[in-house]
Amino acid sequence: MNVLIINCGSSTLKFKVMETRHDTPSCHERILAGGIIDRIGGQGEIRFKTEDGEDLREVREVKDYEIASDIMFDWIESIGLMKPGGIEAVGHRVVHGGYRFVEPAIIDDEVIDAIEAMRNIAPLHNDPSLKAIRSARARLGPHFPMVAVFDTAFHCNMPESASRYAIPIELADKHRIRRYGFHGLAHRFMAERYAIITERPLKELRLVTLQLGNGCSATAIDGGRSVDTSMGFTPLEGLMMGTRSGDVDPHLPGFLARHEGVDIEEVEDWLNRRSGLLGVSGHSNDMRELLGKKSKGDLRASLAVEIFCYRAKKQIGAYFAAIGGADAVIFGGGIGENSPEVRARICAGMEWCGLALDEDINAGTIGSENRISKDSARIHVYVIPVDEEAVIVRDTVLCLHIINRHLRR
Ligand code: AMP
Repeated sequence: MNVLIINCGSSTLKFKVMETRHDTPSCHERILAGGIIDRIGGQGEIRFKTEDGEDLREVREVKDYEIASDIMFDWIESIGLMKPGGIEAVGHRVVHGGYRFVEPAIIDDEVIDAIEAMRNIAPLHNDPSLKAIRSARARLGPHFPMVAVFDTAFHCNMPESASRYAIPIELADKHRIRRYGFHGLAHRFMAERYAIITERPLKELRLVTLQLGNGCSATAIDGGRSVDTSMGFTPLEGLMMGTRSGDVDPHLPGFLARHEGVDIEEVEDWLNRRSGLLGVSGHSNDMRELLGKKSKGDLRASLAVEIFCYRAKKQIGAYFAAIGGADAVIFGGGIGENSPEVRARICAGMEWCGLALDEDINAGTIGSENRISKDSARIHVYVIPVDEEAVIVRDTVLCLHIINRHLRR
């Protein structure tokens, strides 16, 4: 079965056409084609490639996600994958499943309306995927099998002690306020992959996973289940990120609004788009650039990196407390996978609890799967490059399989 996976981010559309060799969730995937459109909303950078090396590389205006989807579908058609025997199903990553979606859902009019209705708690998050879903339905027809896979779903069974805020419960329930958590596909991938690599049952493992990219989050996973995660009602909570502040004193937005004479939306925008690595360094949200500046003695870049690493270390310690230690700490995401320096700083001084990196192996692990802790360390540390599309394709195939079985009965 050939499945098109569409993964929309805040200014990107990534896709893969994957052939799944068996119609089971443990299938092996082959990537027939894939690519990315970066910088949607401006001069889009298009990079597509088939497995045979046929490619499309272009920079041109890509105003919105509808246009991005059209460009993707036109190219998929041009390489012959829209013919019968080409794409047979589509899986979409949807960021926010809210209170309704705790597992993948077959997309129909009702599901689209329900995702749309989530706008009151997630005004921005789902718009890109909704646009991609609508474009795909316009192109392939309303009855083409499509599945939505939600980034929040992995965290939906967190205990109430972790998912509730200490605010009046009536207000929380009225507005469906809870800690939803995000990056669920990434955290789930790292946990499931770790179980495969170490040949241990997921049910027996306690893990702390760190997704450190432009957005950053940590998750405590006990027996395969997310029991706490650092992002909350929105992806602003928790760790320091590229442009997001992460945790601040809840009094701060009101204080800034009053003292700077701006409305609350403006402050929210500062916390989302002008804070984090960018805000502290005053230079960039890009960790690679900041590490370069730091090595040349730039004090603000050094401070930004220091706060970033300190907050991640503190979160690891908190999750050790939450789940009673851990079998492993796992790094993923652009920074987690590619920066030995950041990993070393986060893990420094944690030998007291049995966590110690092998310096040479850590230094040599860039963008590849590896154990980077010492042989003697009690807590393993791994780098596991995250493949969200692998999770989406399995969920899509499994969801369609279950529905088909149900219909045959
Ligand atoms: P992501 O959002 O997962 O694509 O990650 C983007 C982040 O990864 C940016 O801050 C990049 O600077 C960072 N990154 C990518 N490669 C490296 C590297 N070799 N060293 C440090 N940071 C990196």
